Amino acid sequence: MISPAPPGPPGPAARAPAAAPPLVALAGVTRVYGSGPAAMWALRGVDLTLRQGEFVAVMGPSGSGKSTCMNILGCLDTPTAGSYRFAGVDVGTLSRDQRAYLRRDSLGFVFQGFNLLARTSALENVELPLIYRGLQAAERHERARGALAAVGLTGWEDHTPAELSGGQQQRVAIARAIVTRPAMLLADEPTGNLDSARGHEIMALLTGFNRDQGLTIVMVTHEADIAAYADRVVRFMDGRVEADGAGGSA
Ligand code: ADP
Repeated sequence: MISPAPPGPPGPAARAPAAAPPLVALAGVTRVYGSGPAAMWALRGVDLTLRQGEFVAVMGPSGSGKSTCMNILGCLDTPTAGSYRFAGVDVGTLSRDQRAYLRRDSLGFVFQGFNLLARTSALENVELPLIYRGLQAAERHERARGALAAVGLTGWEDHTPAELSGGQQQRVAIARAIVTRPAMLLADEPTGNLDSARGHEIMALLTGFNRDQGLTIVMVTHEADIAAYADRVVRFMDGRVEADGAGGSA
């Protein structure tokens, strides 16, 4: 009698977990503002797939559709046509509340202008998103302190934005963005208001979070030396992705 062969080592297909969907999948995304003769086509059919852990720079001239695309990625706007899937979920099928939860739980935002609350300490600024999540005070303090430490601001917790330099304010904003441990950070010209040295410090921080924690980053920038920190550069032109390729190495 022939006994069945003993099972061999599983092949790669058997060992690999079920393929995860891409973190972001934009398919044929169009965004039209207004209608009729006044219609303005901000995006004209954008296909874009981002894997978990990528660091992508978004470039392109003013008016090319970068902000519109970032607003859609950030669930702040919805496409006129086409689809946006985030971690496999079709964002277009979510209710307004569900989109707000997705923003709160999975996305972090950093802006050119820091957008911190004035007359509010660095610690309280960083705690704010945790309040929205309903965390208790002790855990909020601990996590906010940890996030401020991660951006090099231990000892500055009680300072208000006016008492901090621009670079420090942007660090607080980054701490506020990462304290919720988002899957994706959307950064809109994060170094735009900083001098070159401060800008590179901010990029070193972002690169570290991307490399060490697998944080996916999508960053709009006009500066080639800032884009060079990303591993991929997506260029917009007239509402379309004109080029998509490997970034430089900074
Ligand atoms: P970028 O960020 O690359 O400068 P935007 O996404 O802001 O480009 O804009 C793309 C196009 O859409 C531009 O022509 C802009 O004028 C237009 N646009 C953006 N927002 C609006 C709006 N709320 N209403 C009408 N047109 C808009």
